[in-house]
Order: sequence, then C-alpha cells, then structure tokens
Amino acid sequence: MSKNDLEKSFNILKKTVPLMLKHKMPAIPTNYALWYTYAANETPSLNESMDGILAQISTLSNARAEEMYRNYVADKQEVSPWQLRQNIEAMLLEISQTVQDTKSDTHVFRSAMDGCLDDLEKVEKEGWSVEEVMGLVRNLVNDAQEIRRSTLNFSAALTSAEKEIAQLRAELQQTQKHALYDSLTGLCNRRFFDDELQSMMHHTPLCLIIVDVDHFKKFNDTHGHVMGDKVLKAVAKKLQQSCRDGAQAYRFGGEEFAILIPTDNITRALHVAEVMRRSIEKIQLKDKRTGQTIGGITASFGVSQADEKMQISDFIETADKHLYEAKNLGRNRVMPMH
Ligand code: GH3
Ligand code: MG
Ligand code: MG
Repeated sequence: MSKNDLEKSFNILKKTVPLMLKHKMPAIPTNYALWYTYAANETPSLNESMDGILAQISTLSNARAEEMYRNYVADKQEVSPWQLRQNIEAMLLEISQTVQDTKSDTHVFRSAMDGCLDDLEKVEKEGWSVEEVMGLVRNLVNDAQEIRRSTLNFSAALTSAEKEIAQLRAELQQTQKHALYDSLTGLCNRRFFDDELQSMMHHTPLCLIIVDVDHFKKFNDTHGHVMGDKVLKAVAKKLQQSCRDGAQAYRFGGEEFAILIPTDNITRALHVAEVMRRSIEKIQLKDKRTGQTIGGITASFGVSQADEKMQISDFIETADKHLYEAKNLGRNRVMPMH
C-alpha cells in the first residue's frame, strides 16, 4: 500500500470506527466493510439507503446490515472484509509508529522545558532583565502551544484510535458471522426474522403473516422427504415472489413461513396473504422417480397487525391463533376473515 493510500484509508477508518460505535454495530468483518464503504462516501446508493434507514431508526439490525452488505458491498471487488482487515493491521503499525514519534517529540519538548526552567533559576541567581525573562516565557508559551497543537492532541487522538482499532481487531478475530439465510429455501431464516422484528417493532408500522403448509406430514409420508423439500422450496419461491413494497419472507421453521409487511393496513396484509395462498395452490411439481405431476399443495395463513402497546410475543401469538383458526375451519384459507 502506498503512503497516500494508507493515509486515505486511515482517514476513512477514523470515521468508520466512531460510526460503528454510534450505531452499535457489532464489529464483524461485513459490518466493518459496510461502514467503511459508507464512510468512504463513494457509493451514493449505499449512503442514500443507509441515511434513509437511519432517519427512521438509530441502529441497523444485523439482518438489515447483512442485506445491505450483500446489496452494496459484497460484489464490489475493491472492498473485501479480509483485505480491510489486513489494512487495519497496516494502519495499526503506522499508528504505533506515529505515536512513538509523537512521544519522542514530547520528550524533546520536555527537555526544552526543563532547560527553560533551569534558565528561570538563572533569573533569580543572575538577575536577568524583565525583557529577558519575558522573552523566555514567550518562547516557552510558543513552544507549548505549537507542540500541544501538533502533537499532544494528535497523540491523544491516535491513542484512542489505536485502542478502538485494537478492540475492533480483537472482535474481528473473535466474532463468527452467524448465517442469516436458510440453506434449503434461500429465504431469510428465523434468526434474521427475530433480529428484524426486534428492530422494526414499535418503529415501523407492521403486519405479520404466518404460513403453515397443510398436511405436510402426510405429503412427506406419501411422496418422500425429497419431494417434501421441493415443496418447501417452491412455496418459499412463491412467497418471495409475492413480496412487494418492503415485505420480506422468512422461513420460520419446518414447514412454516413468516412474512413481515411494513404497513398498518391489515386489509393490505390479508390481501397479500390471499395472493400467496392462491399462488401456492398453483404449484405443480414433477416427481422424477414416478414421472407423476404433483399438485394440490395448500397452506393456511394467520395474519396480525402490530400496535404501539403490543409485545412481540403477542404479535406472533395473534397471527398463530388466526393460523390455528384457519386450520380448524378446514385449511387452505386466510384468517381473520376479511
Ligand atoms: P397441518 O395441516 O395441521 O399443519 O398438518 P402438518 O402435517 O403439516 O403438520 P405437522 O406439524 O404435524 O407436520 C409438519 C411436518 O413437516 C412434519 C415434518 O416432518 C415436516 N417437515 C418439517 N421440516 C421439513 C423439511 O425441512 N423437509 C421436509 N421434507 N419436511 C419437513
Ligand atoms: Mg406446522
Ligand atoms: Mg403444517
């Protein structure tokens, strides 16, 4: 890395660390890369999107951060988290060096000061003139100001940056990035859901749809687990395709899915659920073993709407209760009725 590059990276880094601290972002490599890219201010679409989110909520959920990393940073060759990590090491070296230089400057200053103090003693002993004393004091003050400006503050800033970076480095080594995506369906997983719900609840208008595939145990028993997995993939795809305007689908667990919709209009959410229900009915899968085409796959839907006083657990339980009603009323339907 050239000295200029290093300096530029260091300047961006100095902005990155405080930003991450301010927004309470865990210091995992992808976050580091995300906020470094944000601080570099060379990807306007990222900055716009980030500013939009931060205007609403002060922090970013891990899930959202990971998504932004994927969207804006991951495929840009020039910012690899691992490369950045190497840069940190390089910068750390540079900083240690500067801090040491600064300390030796301070040392020079201290001996100059000591010299002046010796001189001041001479004032008493040798009866210096007022002008001579004033000259001495003036020099001392100038030196002090100069050195304070150029090194002491700088030294403090560097020392604190050094601490932050060392901490960041330790965390980088420690933290294992948790997977947020479900490997079978490719949808966001339950952890992603919990994380996202935690940060959105009470900040964004929100509706929840819980989807449960009907008689899925029987489907597995009849067609085998491989076909069962295919159904889950197909259902996930249909759900994702029906997500618009910020709606997001998650694999909630097993044959259950959840969709978070940023709206306070439950009628809209019920409509989305109805569209999803119909699209699942249309799924047709080919069983390669038998050559048979399999259809008739259905799912039941429970919907709930968040309000200010509602706990996250109530929000989920309400959707669950409606799902249970849908099952009891004969499945393949959306509840509550609309
Ligand atoms: P209901 O209509 O009441 O929901 O009946 P159900 O059979 O769908 O419900 P139940 O909860 O009894 O069974 C769910 C089944 O889903 C049991 C389990 O084997 C199956 N399942 C869960 N996860 C997976 C998976 O990843 N792949 C496959 N193939 N099956 C799964
Ligand atoms: Mg179930
Ligand atoms: Mg089921």
